[in-house]
Amino acid sequence: MARLVEVTGSVLVGTSDFCSTTTTVVLGADDTCLVVDPAVTPDDLDALVAELAERGLRVVAGFSTHPHWDHVLWSRALGTGPRFATAAAVRAMAAERRRALGLAERSAPGHDPDLFGRLTPLPDGAATVPWDGPVAEVIEHRAHAPGHAALYLRSEGILLAGDMCSDVEIPLLDLDVADPVGDYRHALGLFAALNGVEYVVPGHGSVGDGAEFRRRVAADRHYLDELEAGRGSDDARLTDDWLVRDHRAHLRHVSGSPEPPEPAS
Ligand SMILES: [Zn+2]
Repeated sequence: MARLVEVTGSVLVGTSDFCSTTTTVVLGADDTCLVVDPAVTPDDLDALVAELAERGLRVVAGFSTHPHWDHVLWSRALGTGPRFATAAAVRAMAAERRRALGLAERSAPGHDPDLFGRLTPLPDGAATVPWDGPVAEVIEHRAHAPGHAALYLRSEGILLAGDMCSDVEIPLLDLDVADPVGDYRHALGLFAALNGVEYVVPGHGSVGDGAEFRRRVAADRHYLDELEAGRGSDDARLTDDWLVRDHRAHLRHVSGSPEPPEPAS
């Protein structure tokens, strides 16, 4: 992972070579910090630990935006603070842990399996992450994954979007729910209603400013409109094979055809 980049005085972001995955560090009082979605390879986490030590920072809590393998990683050197997630995310992780761990071991081998996905549910009704640093408002929704939550650091004007608002990935739908497109639109509506967003940090991709945040929300709404019209294959973000495969799965889902089309040969 490249060194952490300062987005504001209280928020640092590191980016892994693996799928441009971001790790966010929020600075609190007395050299404490909150680490959001530390990722992704064991080497990345070692680099993060080394840089936090170099900066004299002590991790007091973690936060996982959603229960996908690349967002629930940890290292013993990051300490024993609670690793918060929404209650729905914790339930989903418990149900999917074995499968998710298999994905982690395939894509980023070498993590301590005992630490994988060990999340603490937010207290009932918690609107913010329970820690002493900048207030991190929890925006829970159902887009992309069960119990997904973005964090809004209103004092910094920074939205930590989890796996949304990306410049390199199309909206990735959770096709296991009744209304994946509706859930996605709802979450984008929650984001669009926020006042004062000056930066957006996606789980994968680059940090954007306020204008770029609004452009991405509009681009994601446009993608969903196109998808529901049976189109969307010209989205500029469809550069990798896996994204094209996911887009095709979205198209099949919205058209109501459960089986993949015959491969053209
Ligand atoms: Zn994800």
